Amino acid sequence: MQAPRLTPALRRQLVAPVKAIVFDKDGTLTELNSRWVTFFRSIIAATAADGGDPEAEHTLADCLGVGVDHIVPGSPAAVKTESELMTIALDHLVGRGWTAEQAITSMGVGLEAATFGPLAPLGAVAPTIETLAARHLLGVATSDNRANTLDELNRLGVGHHVSALRCGDDGGPVKPDPEVLLGLAREWRVEPAQLLFVGDSEQDRDTARAAGTRFIAVVPEPRGVDPAQQAPAAIGADAWITSIEDLACIEDLAG
Ligand SMILES: [Mg+2]
Repeated sequence: MQAPRLTPALRRQLVAPVKAIVFDKDGTLTELNSRWVTFFRSIIAATAADGGDPEAEHTLADCLGVGVDHIVPGSPAAVKTESELMTIALDHLVGRGWTAEQAITSMGVGLEAATFGPLAPLGAVAPTIETLAARHLLGVATSDNRANTLDELNRLGVGHHVSALRCGDDGGPVKPDPEVLLGLAREWRVEPAQLLFVGDSEQDRDTARAAGTRFIAVVPEPRGVDPAQQAPAAIGADAWITSIEDLACIEDLAG
């Protein structure tokens, strides 16, 4: 069912009883495409060149969900961990006739060539997080690795407000395993129903649903009448917003 846009009344109903808020990172706190298209394209180009298979630059990009100027919503590049992506890329290259040894060597060359695009907050992230932190426990659950996540949160100016993290290379459960959120709820000693997850992917929504937490979808500013056509994560969500700024108003209303 299509979720409603978050309204002041819905904020009171959905968010006021919440004690803890967990955010996805890419596409939720940060602009996804500016940073990650450059990153993936730099790796893929160097990998294909090292392997002497120029066509693989296109097929591997398609396989991972990396477009010329955007990451395909819900694709591996949008939601998978680094190790999961490496496995998908390895399988793809071997499927093209590369030896596993060649694929691993060239992917190593690709990783050394990795170049990040600029880091950009999705809306007024720092002041919003600061407002929310006054009344809520805040966490981040991301498929990205921990070192990069800590670096980005600090550069966004919000790292000191995030009291718990779940990252793709922690060695524990990863999204869509509900244990990601259930573990945070236990750590904070709150019930899953008192936890709100905010994310931009169907995987985020499914993780929240499986854990029994609330879920609000971050979707691009809608250009048409139906935001779900652009953001399937909004289907079955409790509400949708265009940036986390919309959450902060609850602080005024709940008081
Ligand atoms: Mg995301």
